Amino acid sequence: MKLILLGAPGAGKGTQAAVISRELGIPAISTGNILRAAIQEGTPTGMKAKTYMDEGHLVPDEVIIGIIKERLAEPDCAKGFILDGVPRTIAQAEALEAAGIKFDHVVSLEIADATIMERMSGRRVCSKCGASYHIVAVPPKAVCGGELVTRKDDKPETVKNRLAVYHRETEPLKDFYRERGVLYPVEDMGPVEATSKAILAILRQDG
Ligand code: AMP
Repeated sequence: MKLILLGAPGAGKGTQAAVISRELGIPAISTGNILRAAIQEGTPTGMKAKTYMDEGHLVPDEVIIGIIKERLAEPDCAKGFILDGVPRTIAQAEALEAAGIKFDHVVSLEIADATIMERMSGRRVCSKCGASYHIVAVPPKAVCGGELVTRKDDKPETVKNRLAVYHRETEPLKDFYRERGVLYPVEDMGPVEATSKAILAILRQDG
């Protein structure tokens, strides 16, 4: 099962990826988490990505394509995987296709920008493992003992910028995958569990 979770920043991709990963026993891969880990470790990739990320801009395609190809070559991806936050541009989608990767489902989480703006103010992430919480909807648990922090790019101005980038650069991927017959839009249901149920129903019915 090869799956992409598409959706605006704050649509719940990370939260849903974690649920699906548990249910299906395949890894959830987030380029955002990989980049944040690289920044913490101070690697050259991390240094390069940091300024783009802090401003809410996209990291250049060639950096992302390198990271994702390397990650997908690891043995835990052999049975399938869930991509969270990648691809984010047509160039990234084309690179994955050129690498021979064919997706079974591209689930697009549909949610209004106004809801996102509200939601992002309550997001907290674990600084150690990257797990995502919300102070009301998904109460934080420090499962791995890491500190819970607000992401630097969750400031309202940066969120606005990231939403604009999403509509401009990433939303065209819906047409890209619709043309390939694998696009499955899912409306945000409010409670996390209801949205998970809708996604899993699509995956099980089809797959
Ligand atoms: P995320 O955790 O998915 O919201 O990603 C946080 C930030 O990392 C984004 O705002 C981008 O700056 C960068 N990023 C993550 N994934 C990608 C990607 N596939 N393409 C470009 N930039 C990315």
